[in-house]
Order: sequence, then C-alpha cells, then structure tokens
Amino acid sequence: MRWDNLGDRPAGTPAAPGGEAALFGTDAVTTRTFDTPEFRGITFHEIRARTVLNRVPGASRMPFEWTVNPYRGCTHACVYCFARKTHSYLDLDTGLGFDTQIVVKVNAPEVLRRQLASPRWQGAHVAMGTNVDCYQRAEGRYRLMPGIIEALRDRANPFSILTKGTLILRDLDLLRQSAEVTEVGISVSVGFTDHELWRTVEPGTPAPERRLEVVRTLADAGIGCGVLMAPVIPFLGDRPEQLRATVRAIAQAGATSVTPLVLHLRPGAREWFMTWLHRHHPGLVRRYEQLYAAGAYAPTWYQRRITRQVHELADEFGIGPARRGASRRIAVPESGAGTAPATAPEATQLTLL
Ligand code: SF4
Repeated sequence: MRWDNLGDRPAGTPAAPGGEAALFGTDAVTTRTFDTPEFRGITFHEIRARTVLNRVPGASRMPFEWTVNPYRGCTHACVYCFARKTHSYLDLDTGLGFDTQIVVKVNAPEVLRRQLASPRWQGAHVAMGTNVDCYQRAEGRYRLMPGIIEALRDRANPFSILTKGTLILRDLDLLRQSAEVTEVGISVSVGFTDHELWRTVEPGTPAPERRLEVVRTLADAGIGCGVLMAPVIPFLGDRPEQLRATVRAIAQAGATSVTPLVLHLRPGAREWFMTWLHRHHPGLVRRYEQLYAAGAYAPTWYQRRITRQVHELADEFGIGPARRGASRRIAVPESGAGTAPATAPEATQLTLL
C-alpha cells in the first residue's frame, strides 16, 4: 500500500488550517482484523492522520469546499461505487479490496477539533459522506463520528452528512444539539426499493426500507432529511412502476426533498460494475455499452427523462417544487463530464451513497 497518498490533499491544494503536509509514515499504520461475524474477511488499516479537513480542488463543481472522511474503502460494497478508484491511489484493489480493506483515521475527532480551532479556519461548511460512507459498519466499532460531530457542534460549524447507514441514529442526540447551534443537513441515499436489486447491487447496505426509517426518525426528531435517489440504474431500476414505488416510499417517510441521480460509471467503478453485470444480467451488457458509449455518464436525454419522471412523481406525492430547491444542498455532482477529476484523491469524490 502507498501510505504517502493517504493525506487526501490533492497536489497543488493548500494545506488545511492547522494541518501540515498530509503524509503518514509507515510507523503510523496498524493493521487489524476482528474475528466477529460482522467483520470477518475485513482488514482495517488504522492511521493517525495529520489532517482531516480536505479541501475540494477548485476545479471541482461540488457545492462545498471542505470535507471530512474518516474512512477509506467501504464495507457497504455497492458495485457501482465510484470511490473505488480512490483505492488505487493506495495501490489497493478497487474491486473486492475496496469492500474489505478499510483505512481508518483513528484520531480524526481530535485532529478535527484542533483544525477547527485554528485561527486560519473560517467556519466553512464541512461535508461528510462525500467519498465513502462515514456510517458504514466500521463506525460501529471505531465510533469516530460522535467526536467529529461534537467538535463541529462545539464550534457551531455548519455541516452535512450523506449516508446509507442506519447507524446515524446512534448519534441522533448529537445531531439535534448541533442543529440548535448551526446549520445541519442530513441526506439519506435510496436509489430504489426493489429488494432483489438491492441484495445484489448494494450487498453490504441496510435495506432500503431501513434507510427510509432513518428519514422518518430524523423527521420525527425535527431534523429535516432529504433523499438522494441514487443511483437510478438503467434497465434495472428505472421502470415507471419502480420509480413510482420508490418516490412514494420516500414521500411516506417524510423526506424534505428527493433528488434523482442516474448511475454513472467512472473508471474503477465501471470495470467492477460491468463484471457484475456480465454475471447477473448478461443480456444487458450490450445495452450498457451503448448507453455509456460516450463515457462515464448516461446520455443527457436519458438523465432528463428520469429527472422529469421523478419530479412529476415527487409533485404527485407531495414532495413539491418548493422543497426541491433545498435538495441543491445535497452534495450532488452535476451531470455530464467534468464533475470531479477521475484521478483526484478522495476530497474531490462524491459517491452514490
Ligand atoms: S456508494 Fe456509498 S455506501 Fe456504497 S460502497 Fe460506495 S461509499 Fe459505501
């Protein structure tokens, strides 16, 4: 593994406030495995980070400038995950390795607290869940997010979290406390409610209805929660009745907004997804090659069609246009080429959480 590329700071990007050069010595890495059913087959690489605030390069069109990502790799194992590419920067495998080799920044809370206290820090919005899921299973053991949220809360620093993990409810009280002093945006990702599709394409994630229970619980707690309807998977999750069932369930959960996002297949994700497609839906391979012939994104006409359908359904089920604007605060890449450089480290990436 290349430990010199764990710092998250793309070349040419200024250092984070209170941070030094983002490097990790090999003596800072501890590798562990846990012999419990939950973590069997998973290897954790524990890192002591020098900085955890990552600046999104100016070239990116992300609607935020700073991110915190306490993990690299994700046991949720979504076959389409475009953070897969970032594992290659560490010379780790972007397929099964991404699902099973998890880098953990074990000192993330204390480093963040120090960086937020820096006189250079201006209190900018901090986005989490922008690379991999900060509430993946590892968080149950490492418990990094409570300290991270506390650090943000104590500075009244605005932040957002995008997740597929139900574990976020463990931190509900902290989220509520934070929302009393600063702007807190929570989004849950649910691209479809089809169980057969979920089991094969997102094998390590909580079921879609459990994620929607998170939305409901947050809403009941007075914390508005949007849904990133991502990814909408062509030919597998885009039938009108599937879109209808998904938007209806999102509305019934009390989501404040729904933002559709069609599957995109960047290098790293594309190979792994196509391998999966060959195995599970060989009859669709040719159609995918045609739909994604121009690159990582489905054609504009297709994206527009899905967006229109979802917006019409959202209106029908009462997640109307007024709330649609709020969804812009969700960290959604703009469609089309040039969202995030495929070669940039994690700070530039947004997964389809
Ligand atoms: S899409 Fe999100 S939840 Fe799925 S593997 Fe990637 S980071 Fe994890």
